[in-house]
Amino acid sequence: KLSNAQYNFKDYIRVIPDFPQPGIRFKDITTLLKDGGAYRAAIEEIRAAVEKLNIDVIAGPEARGFVVGAPLATALGVGFAPIRKSGKLPGETITASYDLEYGKDQLAMHKDAIEPGQRVLIADDLLATGGTIATSINLVRQLGGEIVGAAFLIELGYLNGREKLEGIDVFSLMTYN
Ligand code: AMP
Repeated sequence: KLSNAQYNFKDYIRVIPDFPQPGIRFKDITTLLKDGGAYRAAIEEIRAAVEKLNIDVIAGPEARGFVVGAPLATALGVGFAPIRKSGKLPGETITASYDLEYGKDQLAMHKDAIEPGQRVLIADDLLATGGTIATSINLVRQLGGEIVGAAFLIELGYLNGREKLEGIDVFSLMTYN
């Protein structure tokens, strides 16, 4: 069994060229998730890095934000607030729109998912352009939550998503440039 420091996490990421379209180098995290030791160690590294932020609740966008945010929430002993495509959550919601390559999409949160003043960390698998995270931040702020950090397994440095997260503590376990 390996200790955290012995994991080279990039060895567990499968890069698939030209998916879902030509020119994109898709970072497949399923090869990390299927290894129990590596998955646990990855979440533990993120937990240790964000512990100091005094987080009250973690919010993460579906679907891969759940795979990072939910285990991180249980590791910290805080709650988890799901951010979903609109039309999926059963209670009263708020929504925010964002631009896709073609057209628009909408994310939603339950109105009571976060209490005003709560310290919120946003979690997702991967920071690319930052559009998904910017929209998630917009939702949390609409509810009165204070964004104190953002955590990712992977950051694509060359897309400069970090620029959309000014003033927020950003932690990425792995960076590709
Ligand atoms: P963005 O809104 O541009 O930051 O894109 C964020 C979402 O798109 C992430 O949650 C990823 O799941 C997905 N994504 C974008 N680029 C990639 C990539 N090269 N490999 C894997 N997933 C990606």
